[in-house]
Amino acid sequence: MHVKNIVVGAGYAGATLARRIAEEKGEPVLVVERHDHIAGHAYDHYNEHGILVHKYGPHIFHTTDKAVWDFLSRFTEWHLYQHRVLSYVDGMLVPMPISAETVNMLYNLGLSAPQVEAWLAEHAEKVPEIRNSEDVVLSKAGRDIYEKFFKNYTFKQWDKYPAELSPDVIKRIPVRANRDTRYFTDRYQGLPRRGYTEMFRGLLAHPLISVMLQTDWFAVKKELTWDRLYFTGPVDRYFEYSEGPILYRSVRFEYETVFGKEFVQEAGTVNYPNDYDFTRVTEYKRLTGQTALDRTTVAREYSSAEGEPFYIVPDEANLALAKKYAALAAAEPNTRFLGRLAESRYYNMDQVVARVLGLAL
Ligand SMILES: Cc1cc2nc3c(=O)[nH]c(=O)nc-3n(C[C@H](O)[C@H](O)[C@H](O)COP(=O)(O)OP(=O)(O)OC[C@H]3O[C@@H](n4cnc5c(N)ncnc54)[C@H](O)[C@@H]3O)c2cc1C
Repeated sequence: MHVKNIVVGAGYAGATLARRIAEEKGEPVLVVERHDHIAGHAYDHYNEHGILVHKYGPHIFHTTDKAVWDFLSRFTEWHLYQHRVLSYVDGMLVPMPISAETVNMLYNLGLSAPQVEAWLAEHAEKVPEIRNSEDVVLSKAGRDIYEKFFKNYTFKQWDKYPAELSPDVIKRIPVRANRDTRYFTDRYQGLPRRGYTEMFRGLLAHPLISVMLQTDWFAVKKELTWDRLYFTGPVDRYFEYSEGPILYRSVRFEYETVFGKEFVQEAGTVNYPNDYDFTRVTEYKRLTGQTALDRTTVAREYSSAEGEPFYIVPDEANLALAKKYAALAAAEPNTRFLGRLAESRYYNMDQVVARVLGLAL
């Protein structure tokens, strides 16, 4: 069978591509997805107790890019949620990322925002050259904050200490001297009102788009020919691991539904940097706005080396390997590699959409 356009993967990259090809070029698109669901890593579903949960970990949409927000708003209304995270440190729940509120609560101070700025500068260590993630935090907030919030959390997540990881890993987490305790500060934030999967249903609902679920591309490609292929799966798998496998961290989720309570924790997510083996606990109703009164579901996250690829391991050798695959991908005829696994990059959801909306098709 011949198909003009094939898109491998029904996540953000694949679904946005399929929609653009169908709408803008007026051409048919076949989307091949190995899972039994659309929406990729943003997939959500109702669990056996009727609570909407995210299968691959908590996803909060946030962007400064109005074009991305407007594009997705064609397929969903929004629950205008702004995420807050607390960190369980020294027996207290304090706001994360570090802000003036965190410093005041943790050290029992009553400082204004400018005073906190001075406090952080006073406690920061002089680091002549930022070579790793430990240097990033020491130079911004000093050793005590580093040890309490970052050192052990990072180890739980990566099985490596911040000193072993590139500066970029922790640079994503800001240290603020102001009183803003939101996790993200982007202008547009929220979750699709009826869930991500429903939003994707709208995105893929076009007469020129067909979706084949539970279909691994590598199992069916011999039976197809095509003009253009858009691949959003793992780039190392595409090239049959010719350069060796790219390393990823995965996450195992332990769900618990508590009955007889509306909520069990004070914020959407609570981080546990120093206690227990899990990294964080998310209470889904806090995110989704679901109003079941008598039950609530939480998920505890355990980082692991095995399982679905979640986060690319950010060490030098692995990033160099990813570059080799990027060179192979760039030379592949009639094929484009897009999205977090195909480009071996940590993308937020809006960044993937922006990347695909910005492509010349
Ligand atoms: C724990 C966690 C939390 C996150 N939270 C947030 C958040 O709060 N906010 C945010 O903006 N971003 C968040 N992200 C990032 C977000 O998940 C990604 O931006 C998004 O999933 C990228 O979409 P994608 O299309 O590139 O990849 P994916 O969503 O992974 O889609 C790729 C698809 O390709 C399919 N595929 C792979 N191989 C094959 C094959 N051989 N044949 C057929 N199909 C195949 C996969 O099954 C998958 O459906 C989070 C990520 C993680 C891991």
